[in-house]
Amino acid sequence: MEIGKLIILWFLGKISTNMGKLASRVLVLNRYWQVVNISTARRAFCLLFVGAAKAVINNGEGFKTLGFEEWVDYSLRNLDGEDTVATVRWILRIPRVIILSHYAGYPSLTVRLTRKNVYKRDNYTCQYCGKKFSPEFLNIDHIIPRYRGGKTTWENVVCSCLWCNLKKGGKTLKEAGMKLLKKPRAPLRLSIHQDEVVEFAHPSWKYFIDVSQWKVKVGEEDAWN
Ligand SMILES: [Zn+2]
Repeated sequence: MEIGKLIILWFLGKISTNMGKLASRVLVLNRYWQVVNISTARRAFCLLFVGAAKAVINNGEGFKTLGFEEWVDYSLRNLDGEDTVATVRWILRIPRVIILSHYAGYPSLTVRLTRKNVYKRDNYTCQYCGKKFSPEFLNIDHIIPRYRGGKTTWENVVCSCLWCNLKKGGKTLKEAGMKLLKKPRAPLRLSIHQDEVVEFAHPSWKYFIDVSQWKVKVGEEDAWN
C-alpha cells in the first residue's frame, strides 16, 4: 500500500467526527453480486483503497461500480454532509454497497458455533424464563447435558440466565420440569447480522437483500416441550 493511503487511513481513524460514520454499515457483495457480508464503512474504505473492492451505485440507469479514484470523483460531484467523511485530502462519500473484485465464494450456510453467536441467535434472552440479560448474567446451557451424551451443536445449546442454568443443572428438560421458548436451530447465513440489518439497513440495499425478512427473528418457532 502506498504511504499516502496509509496516512489517509490513519487520519480517517483519528478525526473524531468521522468515528460514528465510519462505524456505519456497508453491504458487501461477492463478484457475482451475491450478498456475503455486512461490514463497516471503515473496512469498506480500506478495501476500496487497496483495490480489493469497488463501490456500487445505482445512477438511475442501472448499477455502476467505481474504483477508489472514481469514487473520489463521484464523492466530489455528489456531496452530502450526512453521508460523507472528511480526510485531510478528500471528502469521501460513504459507499453503501461494495462489490469484492475477486472473491467468488459464498459464506457457509451456517454461522460458526460460538458463545457470542448463541447469545446473538437467542437475542441475549434466556430460553427458559424469557428474560433478557447482559452477557455476564448469561451462560450456555446444553439441553441434553453433556455428561449424558448431549453434543455441542446449535440444536442442543441455548442461551440461559445463570439462575435458570443453576436450576436445570444436569437434568433433562423433563426432569427439571422446564420448557424452552422455542426449538433452537442453526441460524442461517447472515441472519446473525439481523439486528444490524434492521437497525442500519440503507435504502440502496433493497436491490440485493429483502430487508423486511430480517424483521423475523432467527429460529422463531412454536414453544418446544
Ligand atoms: Zn432464565
